[in-house]
Amino acid sequence: MLQQTQVKTVIPYFNKFTKEFPTLTSLSKCNEKKILKFWEGLGYYRRARNLLSAAKIIVKEKNSILPRSYEEIKKLPGVGDYTANALLGLVYNQPTIALDGNVKRIFSRILNKQDSKINFEKFIELNKKILFNTKRNSDFVEALMEFGALICKPKEPKCNICNIRNACKYLSSSKKIITTKFKIIKYKNYDIFCYVNKNKQIALTKDNNLGFLNKFNLPQIKETKKNNKKSWKFLNKYQNSISNKRLNINLYYKFTNKIPPSFTWYSIEKNKEFVPNFTKKIFKQVSTIF
Ligand code: SF4
Repeated sequence: MLQQTQVKTVIPYFNKFTKEFPTLTSLSKCNEKKILKFWEGLGYYRRARNLLSAAKIIVKEKNSILPRSYEEIKKLPGVGDYTANALLGLVYNQPTIALDGNVKRIFSRILNKQDSKINFEKFIELNKKILFNTKRNSDFVEALMEFGALICKPKEPKCNICNIRNACKYLSSSKKIITTKFKIIKYKNYDIFCYVNKNKQIALTKDNNLGFLNKFNLPQIKETKKNNKKSWKFLNKYQNSISNKRLNINLYYKFTNKIPPSFTWYSIEKNKEFVPNFTKKIFKQVSTIF
């Protein structure tokens, strides 16, 4: 849940989730619809699906025990290098480091070397005797994450209270590396076309190739190019962020009873199905036309 999502947002979700699914077995018995309902609002819904698939595999094929080897754990859906190392360290106390942007920043500051010039795997391998000189590897994995978030922060690191300040080349160097990168956020323009009817319903389809939110029910969405909008009424213009995308949206609607075969009618007001926040916002805008 914490991937790409802030702790304060996650806490209520985590509490509700672990209350409903206290064990891997209870989670593995859940269906996709239910898990998505529990995830509703967190975004990045692929994480929920992967979690569910992984739980089913662990229960059915691994005797309900999380694999202990890097190779096996990486075969689980949604588990890449970072998650594999985090799980092996946190769950099994193995000597691993979950290497994300925060941890890379810590090491590159200690060396005062730009991260693009460091082979981190090699660095960890060469320094494993120092790094894993503890029996508390699970605490070490956690501590590195916290250290990056609270002390060696992206901006204004707290060097004055840092326990490793004497070993840090960033602090002692007169020519400090630059570790804060500013990303230029680009907005993409999309036209969203909503079929609506007099019963306050909107037609949604899973038939889209957007790359984000695919497999979810959405209205017709097209990248703004030369879309034929003649028969559509313009409703609103707004911005939306989804995953790492920023969208400029032009919303159009048309009253009709005829919809293409891949579309299904959904109630705008009384909808009980899982719909992502992206779709909820569209519902809210469209509800103003009735
Ligand atoms: S001294 Fe400052 S820059 Fe160096 S590791 Fe500590 S907090 Fe980070």
